[in-house]
Amino acid sequence: MHQYAVFGNPITHSKSPLLHNYLFLSLAIPAFYGRYHLFKESELVESFKRLNLAGANVTIPFKEVAFLQCDEVRGIARQIGSVNTLVREGNRIIGYNTDAEGFMQTLEGKIQPKSVLLLGAGGTARAIASILASYQIPLLVLNRSAKRLESFTLKGYESATHEDFTRFLHPRERAFDLIINTTSAGLSDDLLPLDSALLTPLLHAGVLAYDVIYGRETPFLAHARANGARTLDGREMLIEQAALSSFYFNDRVHDLGRIRELMHRALP
Ligand code: NDP
Repeated sequence: MHQYAVFGNPITHSKSPLLHNYLFLSLAIPAFYGRYHLFKESELVESFKRLNLAGANVTIPFKEVAFLQCDEVRGIARQIGSVNTLVREGNRIIGYNTDAEGFMQTLEGKIQPKSVLLLGAGGTARAIASILASYQIPLLVLNRSAKRLESFTLKGYESATHEDFTRFLHPRERAFDLIINTTSAGLSDDLLPLDSALLTPLLHAGVLAYDVIYGRETPFLAHARANGARTLDGREMLIEQAALSSFYFNDRVHDLGRIRELMHRALP
């Protein structure tokens, strides 16, 4: 029986085991998917090997370290610099990123964004920025601290810290039609990703507020809804990225549409 897992810290909130195990059962694939609370990033690959996993997902905060630790990185993950899917091929570990394409898939039929405000500068932000840029969609990356913005600036993205945002931008001058929260604010606390004095003027009926966090209405989404914006949580992105991961885990044998359909059924 093949074993899979998701690595993260925190990890109890993850719905990945539910999705993947439902799929294994439905398609009669003899496999099991668990969750692994990883404390030391240096032990990611070592743990993968010790557990003799056939594949894994990687979540907060290990996606960048996964990129550095796997033997080969394929596809869009090379541009992004972050990996959320590990697949064993013989003795080698291959890294993919399914967040980017998974995210893009979720916009279909909802919005064709013209100007995006991306909150956060971690692994998920990198994936989303990369795919939006590949579609030439203008975006501004806004992060609490300057450190993580360096890699975005080097790649030519327009970026700002919260402080810069107040200093050189009048929020109303920027007509963002899509605001995406990729920070972990709201995951297990009641924080907004951006001070409400900065966020509120950006919210109105013409905006889609998208939070990649799933499983609860985050303060960001509640605030956006209260201010008239449309909202979308991370449920669909979770399913899309998991479906693509599963496609790689199972050597692209099963139809992606069927995988997606089953995963939708798994998540109430
Ligand atoms: P990272 O740890 O790589 O990045 C976290 C980012 O959040 C950093 O930019 C950090 O800013 C910022 N941040 C953290 N706390 C706050 C705060 N209180 N206020 C403002 N900014 C804050 O995380 P990931 O990119 O891996 O994941 C981010 C979130 O996305 C997680 O909640 C994860 O569960 C979710 N996710 C959901 C997916 C889905 O399928 N629905 C897929 C992937 C991720 P700083 O640099 O200043 O520390």
